[in-house]
Amino acid sequence: MSYNIAIDGPAGAGKSTIAKSVAKELEFIYVDTGAMYRAIALYLIRNNIKEDEQDKISKYATEANVEIVYENGEQQVILNGENVSGLIRTEEVGKMASASAKNPAVRSQLLDLQRALAQKEDVIMDGRDIGTHVLPNADIKIYLTASARERANRRYKELKAKGIDCYLDEIERDIIARDEQDMNREIAPLKQAEDAVLIDSSYMTIEEVVKEIILLYAKSK
Ligand code: C5P
Repeated sequence: MSYNIAIDGPAGAGKSTIAKSVAKELEFIYVDTGAMYRAIALYLIRNNIKEDEQDKISKYATEANVEIVYENGEQQVILNGENVSGLIRTEEVGKMASASAKNPAVRSQLLDLQRALAQKEDVIMDGRDIGTHVLPNADIKIYLTASARERANRRYKELKAKGIDCYLDEIERDIIARDEQDMNREIAPLKQAEDAVLIDSSYMTIEEVVKEIILLYAKSK
């Protein structure tokens, strides 16, 4: 039986950085489910679909075939045969991903892929509904959060370091809007699973969070 760690939480909580680091230490596979939603969002954007066109989203989503492969341990997202990993990290794609993730056709399409990966391999999988919906029997569930201001601050520093012009208040507003959309949708909304361990990383370093998860793993063995 494979060992599964689920890690959920709002945008910018540090899930992917932390999950990648845990995966490396435990020699697990890191599965970034947000990237799958982003790949579908990219397909929708390329086809000029708007965020409120849910009927079109259902129709076009079925044409977007998403696959996951690993190159040197790094997850690559393949959209209809094209590696789109480098194209899905924009704010525009993130917003479309959140809008289209409300759609049942989009969600059901990705669910099988996510479960199949977790069944085959020891994984640490991050997203919004992993502990509550995708892997309800995961061995460890983490709900990782931080204050909206702190998450915005981290994102602001990241963008500034890349030389991208941005405003902290605007980033915070976008983060809060995305959280609201993800937490209030009908299907598989973002929420802490009853049996998840809550980690608030507002005042913690990445290393401290990683250590805490490794400790939970060691205790569970
Ligand atoms: O984590 P990331 O920001 O890449 O995710 C993009 C969007 O995809 C999220 O805002 C959320 O709406 C959606 N998503 C989801 N369920 C997941 C992972 C991501 O609904 N398991």
